[in-house]
Amino acid sequence: MIARVVTDVALDREFDYLVPPELASELEVGSAVDVPFGRTQRTGYVLSIHDTTEFDMSRMRPVTGVSSSRASIPKQLVELGRWMSEYYCCTLEQSIRTLLPAPVRNGKFRPKIRKIYNVSNSYEAQKELAKIGKNVRLIGRTVVLEHLLVYGECFMDELAKLQGFSRSALATLVKNGLVSVREAATRRDVFGNAGIVRDSALEPTPDQAKALAQIDGLLAAGGGVQLLHGTTNSGKTEVYLQAISKTMDMGKSSIVLVPEISLTPQTVRRFRARFGDALSVLHSRLSGGERFDEWNRIRSGEVKIAIGARSALFAPFSDLGLIVIDEEHESTYKQAEAPRYNARDVAVMRGQLEHAVVILGSATPSAESLHNAGIGRFSMTRMSCPVGHSVPPRFQVIDRRIGTDPDAGESSLFSDELVEAVRQRISSGEQCILFLNRRGYARTLSCDACGYVAKCDDCAVHCVYSRRSQTLSCHLCGAVREAPLVCPQCGNNQIRYSGSGTEKIESIAHALFPDARIGRMDSDSMRSADDYEEVLENFRQGKLDILVGTQMIAKGLHFPNVTLVGILNADQGLNMPDFRSSERTFQLITQVAGRAGRGDTPGDVILQTFNPQNDVIVYATSGDVDGFSKFDLEFREMMNYPPFSRMITILFRGEDEDAVKRYAFEFKDAISPYLHDGIKMVDPMPAPIERMKGKYRYVISVRGNGLATMRKAIRTLALHGAPPSGVEVAVDVDPQNMM
Ligand code: ADP
Ligand code: ZN
Repeated sequence: MIARVVTDVALDREFDYLVPPELASELEVGSAVDVPFGRTQRTGYVLSIHDTTEFDMSRMRPVTGVSSSRASIPKQLVELGRWMSEYYCCTLEQSIRTLLPAPVRNGKFRPKIRKIYNVSNSYEAQKELAKIGKNVRLIGRTVVLEHLLVYGECFMDELAKLQGFSRSALATLVKNGLVSVREAATRRDVFGNAGIVRDSALEPTPDQAKALAQIDGLLAAGGGVQLLHGTTNSGKTEVYLQAISKTMDMGKSSIVLVPEISLTPQTVRRFRARFGDALSVLHSRLSGGERFDEWNRIRSGEVKIAIGARSALFAPFSDLGLIVIDEEHESTYKQAEAPRYNARDVAVMRGQLEHAVVILGSATPSAESLHNAGIGRFSMTRMSCPVGHSVPPRFQVIDRRIGTDPDAGESSLFSDELVEAVRQRISSGEQCILFLNRRGYARTLSCDACGYVAKCDDCAVHCVYSRRSQTLSCHLCGAVREAPLVCPQCGNNQIRYSGSGTEKIESIAHALFPDARIGRMDSDSMRSADDYEEVLENFRQGKLDILVGTQMIAKGLHFPNVTLVGILNADQGLNMPDFRSSERTFQLITQVAGRAGRGDTPGDVILQTFNPQNDVIVYATSGDVDGFSKFDLEFREMMNYPPFSRMITILFRGEDEDAVKRYAFEFKDAISPYLHDGIKMVDPMPAPIERMKGKYRYVISVRGNGLATMRKAIRTLALHGAPPSGVEVAVDVDPQNMM
């Protein structure tokens, strides 16, 4: 028998080892093994088992043994790992490593073992109690025996709390055989003692019933993907909860993924209220030990549901029935480092491999998912009527081109209408959210006077302004032109290169509304999850009048007293050199606007823009999700962007710009013979962010039909090529981040 093993040396290669007969019954796909490797011993994982090998068996070395310190990878995940490695062009080791959380992989944690005490025999215990009688010197023994007789098995910490307890008394009882001790693995307590009131399923609305009937059909058929397209508050979460119940009734397990930022105590409470201890929560604040315990609880089948952010997708269930991806359009499902996987797409693959149903939920689905629904690959259910009394927000669009006094400086960030509306809320004791999504690094050239923004002639994306070279370039097609000194549209010479951030907004707000209590929420001001919770809690309790923030405040937070949302610069996201800039802007405006009027008071949204006629702004402010989707998909089809083509970007980076550039061109020349007509590749270009952390960055973007061909051409060279020292190559398949 031959075991094909991948070790922790990043070679993107498997090695064959003989399996000694005594290990034959123990070894299986996914087993962690110790193997000789050169002159050392390494830990590895068995990815497949074979009867024969193409190598010379007489010279092959045997597996040393099954690793005692490390967990094995569940068999069903091994295949998924192999697929990720191929699909995302990462090494097999990187991919396999992703399947296990670090505390499970590194072998440093053990189950927490605790001693459990009980009486060995209650008759003997009673006899002893009678014998001790009122002897106060033996009170220690009395309290232990009496407690155990009443309550049964106990941990030491419980006994230690008893009045009169002594350790020596307990030790004596154990020595005399009156009290027995056993050891058991216990779980580190993840939830603390949070008191949760249990609830039960709500009577489904007609929309929910329709969605659930479809999910039932998929569950019965043993798989399939359903896109659940419903506005905020339309009852999607309730559908997830009931679908999970059905999955449990079938004896199967469920995984729920939510964006990290939405994994709040509020969200968890809702799932806990329905499922109690059958639920495992995998959030980023778990300690290594807790993560280890939760993984083992899932692996052993003790829990049936796992909820968490991206990596919870690899929860080691062996009887998976359902995967829910909430907010499926979120770009945070894409991992930024290798393997650069998108959890939504891998979920669809895992569902397929394990015959599980996948539900993708969103109020603003991605173009990719809508396209998949359109061509029948996914089924789709719409949920329109909001449950409860929430009403859609009222938009007021403020055209910032009019009445912007160039001498007014910073205060022009606030229109008169916005200032007035905020004042009014403060005086009536209501709350406001001021939203500005500052992404300061991509400097865009724009004109304040007419709203002009520099765009590429051929690609309909915004150009990137480079101060260093004084040029405008398009990183999709490679067009470069000189940056104009005056606005090409109106001749104004006050061209601008960037906007303002939330910090500036906060200080202006303090000046404009001196009596208001103002909080700010963005990645600069939020150093930890506790900061985040604290600001939210203060806002919830009405200790703040205004909350200023970036997209951090946009996600599903429920604040009934918020009646005004100000979107200070709706154009900001539109100015990104990315074909998804329309989609992201639409989603963000829709989400932020949804923060207003969630209570009994109707909400107002004041949206400031230099482009009131822009299609995205028009669709967003009229709440026309379908209109926007149609518009965006048509645009993408016309321009042959994903989902109508596939895209891979290859990023080259290093401190020596010439070396980076030279290797990028060599790389391009090397792969171009393998690409056919339907695939477009342009010369390497400086990335929109040309230099990051001291490294120069060049990018090749490959786009077209035939992802497999593209991958094949790129993968081998990217993983096994020999770039000059100091130059790194990173492949991103289905990139979300074009920067
Ligand atoms: P979404 O996830 O789409 O934002 P939720 O599932 O959170 O929507 O539902 C919004 C609100 O409506 C919640 O407060 C929820 O408890 C309530 N709700 C959902 N479904 C029902 C139902 N069938 N009957 C009554 N209330 C419901
Ligand atoms: Zn272009």
